[in-house]
Amino acid sequence: MAQLVLLPGKDRSLARRHPWIFAAAVEKLSGRARPGDTVDVVAANGRPLAKAAWSPESKIRARVWTFDPDEIVDDAFFKRHIQAAVERRQQTPELRGQDGLRLVHGESDGLPGLIADRYGDTIVLQLTATGPEKWRQAIIHALQRATGCARIYERSDSHVRRLEGLLPVTGWVSGAAPAERLCIVENGVRMQVDVVAGHKTGFYLDQRDNRLLTRTLAADRATLNGFCYTGGFSLQALAGGARSVLSIDSSGPALATAIDNLALNPQLDANRAEWREADVFTELRALKNAGQHFDLIILDPPKFAPSASHAERAARAYRDINAFAFRLLNRGGLLMSYSCSGGISSEHFQRIVADAALDAGRGARILRRLAAPPDHPVALHFSEGEYLKGLLCQVD
Ligand code: SAH
Repeated sequence: MAQLVLLPGKDRSLARRHPWIFAAAVEKLSGRARPGDTVDVVAANGRPLAKAAWSPESKIRARVWTFDPDEIVDDAFFKRHIQAAVERRQQTPELRGQDGLRLVHGESDGLPGLIADRYGDTIVLQLTATGPEKWRQAIIHALQRATGCARIYERSDSHVRRLEGLLPVTGWVSGAAPAERLCIVENGVRMQVDVVAGHKTGFYLDQRDNRLLTRTLAADRATLNGFCYTGGFSLQALAGGARSVLSIDSSGPALATAIDNLALNPQLDANRAEWREADVFTELRALKNAGQHFDLIILDPPKFAPSASHAERAARAYRDINAFAFRLLNRGGLLMSYSCSGGISSEHFQRIVADAALDAGRGARILRRLAAPPDHPVALHFSEGEYLKGLLCQVD
């Protein structure tokens, strides 16, 4: 096996169990390795440190599979680690009865570059790095074994694959497309999941708990859901007895699915829902100019800052939409505001929302800090990365 030799002093982050080895930490590769091959990682003095997947084209030159230099990375490795990730979900009481959940969350489950989401009897697999790409078959078998699901769809079309020199791969890798559209029930609400053409793996599972929270807050409130996608927050707000729910998204197909989703839930009062295909920035301004007000506003925008280099422009965008939301709220109104930008920390996000309240001339307080549910654990040694953060604020 080839050896990845680190520069002197560059083993510190590895000693802290951070799984990424950046190009700048690497002295050399002794021996030959193809992309995705497992290499022995050694300190400058030759001390064995880890086994990692080699990725010559990425700035993250290797991702650690195991910090035990004696552990063997083979089919059985994936069987063990995927089984363990699935069992962690089974042992989490809050996840019982959920038929849409994330089974494997990459680095947080010790499996860098591997995402597996379960929607009913279907698994959606996303491989984002050379390591899991090499072990695709072992991963598929391990997922089948750990879950009993025969149907697996691969959605390896995330743009981050390009950084690894990988082309997009999509398609059924096990079983065939279901005859009917795939549906899950999320806390009492039926939702379609389009694993082929939907965003990400088809659904934003990371907002499950926050959608449920919305339901508990929505009673009698005039509600606005910006960036509604397929209507997850909107339908939970209706389930919670919202007086009205105006939902905005710029994607026609997402709104069409949202409208279908409402029809799948005859228990909800469809007369209270209004859907609008529009740009949230423009529409919030228009609503303000029209003198409209709301009691509950949800803002769950796409990632404005994928990395720190975009943070400044993204901060402006977050500040603008949040300032408009504060202006649109009635006294005592609630704002649920989210960011999934890796380039913006939760402290930074709080400052942005605070500035937005000032822009709007509103006093407000944080009632709750909002995060992703337990099937989206956070790798302890990461900075905030991709992780979802949010604030529930109440205005005076
Ligand atoms: N809250 C949703 C997920 C939101 S994802 C849920 O719980 O499922 C972000 C959504 O924002 C996407 O549906 C995307 O189509 C939409 N979007 C992106 N930019 C937008 C813009 N400028 N105006 C309106 N919608 C936008």
